[in-house]
Amino acid sequence: TYKIAAHFLPWRKPELLEGEHSLSKLPALIRRKGLNHVLIVTDQGIVKLGLMDGLLHGLTAAGVSYVVYDQTVPNPTIENVEEALHLYHANRCEGIIAFGGGSPMDCAKGVGARVARPHKTIPQMKGQLKIRKAIPSLFAIPTTSGTGSEATVVSVISNSKTHEKFAINDTVLIPQYAVLDPALTMGLPPHITATTGMDALTHAVEAYIGRSNTKETIRCSREAISLIFENLFEAYSNGTNKNARKNMQKASYLGGITFTRAYVGYVHAIAHTLGGFYNVPHGQANAIILPHVLEYYGKSVYKPLAELADLIGVTQASDSVEIKAKKFIKWIKDLNKAMHIPAKVSGVIVEEDIPLMVDRALKEANPLYPVPKILGK
Ligand code: NAD
Repeated sequence: TYKIAAHFLPWRKPELLEGEHSLSKLPALIRRKGLNHVLIVTDQGIVKLGLMDGLLHGLTAAGVSYVVYDQTVPNPTIENVEEALHLYHANRCEGIIAFGGGSPMDCAKGVGARVARPHKTIPQMKGQLKIRKAIPSLFAIPTTSGTGSEATVVSVISNSKTHEKFAINDTVLIPQYAVLDPALTMGLPPHITATTGMDALTHAVEAYIGRSNTKETIRCSREAISLIFENLFEAYSNGTNKNARKNMQKASYLGGITFTRAYVGYVHAIAHTLGGFYNVPHGQANAIILPHVLEYYGKSVYKPLAELADLIGVTQASDSVEIKAKKFIKWIKDLNKAMHIPAKVSGVIVEEDIPLMVDRALKEANPLYPVPKILGK
């Protein structure tokens, strides 16, 4: 089913507004689509930075009224979605702008799902294709370069009571428009640049080593990985390098395009349990777990990892496939280290939680992954 879905689901891509100052074109576009009232979903960090000010002025000038929901938390919750949904209806909104990282974008998608299916709760839409009805126009404006949510079918929501973090997957959640304006990520602090960038890398790598690849996902994964190899450390250490920021935005978008078709696997499954149980930021969890899981997969992933090592040029012609694969994993570890991302998740895991975390991670992980039977025992 997964493999067939990767090839045949009605995939579409968001229409892109790309490049510096592309955000300034959005208000007129929204107006042209005939929308008068919109809900903006964001978070407190974005509001404090004043990142949205230009957009708000632009909307007013274009005659589009808006209401702002700014209480989204990292690892957004069902409560976030319900509060934002209330604002949507109370203000008779007709469309949704998601402004921020993956958390506001996923919260906005959750609102869209609830508008489309008012009689289904968020947990009832968990899993695959439970919406199947158009959501209101969704305009995604990523301000981190990592999740790729602006291009994906996924909304990841946390249940703050059960500590479960789960995904709602439906092609109707792919935003109609995405704005990739590098000006929005210029002030992203180094630590968030690093961890979100490693999230994008995890998407591209997990999709590449899975078994649901198409020609397009292979191409997108490889392009994303090359861009990350060339630009992530530069964006981390020199945040005002516009070109590096622009390229990381593109890498993140391509990571979204590839993993939403070819899936993610055990790294994400484990990261989601860490997010749900202990609020570990998603990118940080992925960054730490990625090399460990790749090592655990062993020889089942040597071939694709060797190809990626060749792609980024860390190999020599005389290296065996195994050596090349190990060099790729070493590159990931070295990059984490250079960006001060720790090698382990320390000080948060409570031992008694581990059996439930393992259970949830195994249930979530994609059965088409390289060693599902070994891990499933
Ligand atoms: P985030 O959205 O949680 O943001 C993290 C922090 O960065 C926040 O405090 C925010 O205010 C701040 N921030 C955002 N942009 C900034 C900027 N330009 N300058 C300064 N600070 C800024 O982080 P994220 O990593 O983008 O998103 C994580 C969430 O996305 C997780 O819940 C994860 O599960 C989800 N996710 C979703 C998908 C998907 O396809 N839907 C894919 C991967 C991850």
